[in-house]
Amino acid sequence: MSPARGRRAPPQRDYVPGQLLDWRDSKHWDYDGPRPCRYCGFDTQLRDSHGKPAHKTCAEEALAIQAAEAADRYQQNGPR
Ligand SMILES: [Zn+2]
Repeated sequence: MSPARGRRAPPQRDYVPGQLLDWRDSKHWDYDGPRPCRYCGFDTQLRDSHGKPAHKTCAEEALAIQAAEAADRYQQNGPR
């Protein structure tokens, strides 16, 4: 048995559009009617995890961009 090392490898995250978020739960559907998506402005009855109107694909794209920007920052500022 080898002793546990101090650091684990970071989790592998590959963002695949359409397969990232699970919005099948009814809390992501607003029965009151469509409202403009916070990202693209087109009407949707879907709601994101904050209850804001958003298409699932738009929210996933925004998450992928955030993740890419965070990865860039880490590579610029992180340890070499
Ligand atoms: Zn949208």
